[in-house]
Amino acid sequence: MVTEKIAAKINPWHVAQQQFDLAAERLHLDPGLRKVLREPQRELTVHFPVKMDDGTVQVFTGYRVQHNLGRGPAKGGIRYHQDVSLDEVKALAMWMTWKCAVVGIPFGGGKGGVIVDPKKLSMREVEGLTRRYATEISILIGPERDIPAPDVNTTSQTMAWIMDTYSMHVGHTVPAVVTGKPIPLGGSEGRNEATAQGAVYTLIDAANHLGMDITHSRVAVQGFGNAGAIAAQLMHAQGSTIIAVSDSTGGIFKAEGFDPNAVLAWKKEHHTVCGFPGTKDITNAELLEVDCDILIPAALENQITAENAPRIKARLIGEAANGPTTPEADDILYKAGKFVIPDILCNAGGVTVSYFEWVQDLERDFWDVAHVNEKLHRIMTRAFSSTLEMSLTEKVNMRTAAYLLAVQRVADATSVRGLYP
Ligand code: GLU
Repeated sequence: MVTEKIAAKINPWHVAQQQFDLAAERLHLDPGLRKVLREPQRELTVHFPVKMDDGTVQVFTGYRVQHNLGRGPAKGGIRYHQDVSLDEVKALAMWMTWKCAVVGIPFGGGKGGVIVDPKKLSMREVEGLTRRYATEISILIGPERDIPAPDVNTTSQTMAWIMDTYSMHVGHTVPAVVTGKPIPLGGSEGRNEATAQGAVYTLIDAANHLGMDITHSRVAVQGFGNAGAIAAQLMHAQGSTIIAVSDSTGGIFKAEGFDPNAVLAWKKEHHTVCGFPGTKDITNAELLEVDCDILIPAALENQITAENAPRIKARLIGEAANGPTTPEADDILYKAGKFVIPDILCNAGGVTVSYFEWVQDLERDFWDVAHVNEKLHRIMTRAFSSTLEMSLTEKVNMRTAAYLLAVQRVADATSVRGLYP
């Protein structure tokens, strides 16, 4: 509860700009370029009606932000959540720009969101909302312009509706307008698991660097959606002991560990991880502070703050979520000798396999899962080692190191293209 109240007060856009400023300062970025990269290129706000099941009309508010298009089309997910705001979407769009640059895929950064709790809507209402939102943002999206993907509370089904709506408007099927689609519609093998798989690749690299044995590690995961649940399953398969997980309703803890596959089955039936037999219920705030070796925040922004950072026990923190740690908390963790794999590196597996999906759609040629994961592994390991090297030579934490790499790449692309007109 305390964490929730603090999180709600911190503006993610201010956090994103603060992180950027830190890197821009260190890079002695040209002042003009700095002003350009500090703001999003485009921000679209839409208010649109949806006919509800009871016959009434409700008006929803949504956004699509394109932060930077210097290195390619905008890329980034769409989030459905009651707390979405323009500032949150701006931050998420900026983080996508840096994320794509860290792993070296040819996209700029974008993000979308709708203010809605989709759990309170029927399937038909969510479909209506999605199709109308897709129509409203169709002035921005397109396979060469801006390519959405799933994010918090959106799925491959959401992407199928967006792809269908866009295709109906242009009169032919355009699979490459979104990624994270169902496989029969041109989705990629391995995309559903990609965010978690990429995070696990970076955790293995980090554990090797720190001399930690991943098979004897105790792991806590905050968030049990696409990123968190699959990360828990993959870590369990690696031999780690999963001792705590949580979702938006609360968390569970058991010092001896439990099988995350069984928790997933429990959650499918009960719509919560809480009450899973043999475990003790804990809060989301408590989960972050449990005595563990590896902590994987895989939920929302601003979870690790100056308030709770001193009490984090994990030696290694892998940010599967976007923006889970504030800059003040970063300093505290770094001084305490904690190793944080920053979001723009740790969770970049999702957008990397989105890039593979987009390439496969454009080429009409599809790869098997072994090929996808081999390419993903190579990209994640390369990005991890360049970031680690930067962190060691510049004597900065891994986040600042990743920013130094990313911001420089985007700055180079932007300046070599030149200022139009
Ligand atoms: N929503 C994911 C992210 O935050 C994936 C974005 C994408 O695949 O475009 O990275």
